[in-house]
Amino acid sequence: MTNGVRVIPIECKFGPISAFAYYVDSLEPAIIDTGVNISARQDIEPTLAEHGIRIEDIRWILLTHGHVDHLGGAYALWEKTGRRAKVVIPKKEARLLRDRNEHIVDYKALQGKYITDSVIQEKHIAMLTSDIGENIEPSLEVVEGDSIHLGGDITLKVIETPGHSIGSVTFLLDGLDWAFAADAVQIYGGLSGLPTIENPSSYRKSVQRLLEVCPKRLYLGHPFRNSNGDLQSAQIEGGQVEAVLQASLDMDAKLSNIARRHLSNGLPAEQHELYGPYGSIASEIGYTGDPRNLPCSFFVTMHGYHEELIGLQIK
Ligand SMILES: [Zn+2]
Repeated sequence: MTNGVRVIPIECKFGPISAFAYYVDSLEPAIIDTGVNISARQDIEPTLAEHGIRIEDIRWILLTHGHVDHLGGAYALWEKTGRRAKVVIPKKEARLLRDRNEHIVDYKALQGKYITDSVIQEKHIAMLTSDIGENIEPSLEVVEGDSIHLGGDITLKVIETPGHSIGSVTFLLDGLDWAFAADAVQIYGGLSGLPTIENPSSYRKSVQRLLEVCPKRLYLGHPFRNSNGDLQSAQIEGGQVEAVLQASLDMDAKLSNIARRHLSNGLPAEQHELYGPYGSIASEIGYTGDPRNLPCSFFVTMHGYHEELIGLQIK
């Protein structure tokens, strides 16, 4: 494939944050990621219309991972295609599409585990539930090496890039080496100020793998922060791709080192009012965010580094 492919980034907004969906033009057009429940109506349909594209003509809904801000809009979008689009999700996260209650299970095992106030927990669960549409049976559950043919000579290859979440994948546009990595690459983190990393060992390997692939473009799920703390574009090109991947590895190395120093003797018995057992880490990194907000990376990421240290994670 020598010519480019038209890709339209669609910013899906909700509350103070946003997540990107991407339209990939082809004989069988695809949308990669779907924002939350309201996004199909509020952002995806109007943005496509501005470009003269009808939402009902979408034939593929491709999900990079199962987090609410990427999967939550899948049902509404699928409905708008007259249920004709095929819905694709990584095999390891298909349960999150099939059963929205699984999001509550994950919440309770990660962020919710550290939120002791049951009123806040209930508020989070209500927010999560309202952001996700109805359950859908996936048309296809993908794994490493699978290919999705969008008609003509346009093919997306599946690369497993876990770590941000357990089953995240990257869709790589074959021949052009444009990578739809979404949240598999976190740089210095999003709005809440830290990268969201569920499994640091996998995350490190995935970012290294993407460095080897060295994509010509990187399409991310959110505007992430650079080393100065400024939010930068979620669409990255050329030499910036390598810089962004390297910065993501640098941030992981920094967090990993700090976690090792603070947690290698186990979790401290002393609980910080806001940061639970991770108060001394928050203080060292100068983190002042409120982890009772949703979504917040702090507890998810700290939990990940702690589990890595105590050998609870598969490397
Ligand atoms: Zn995510």
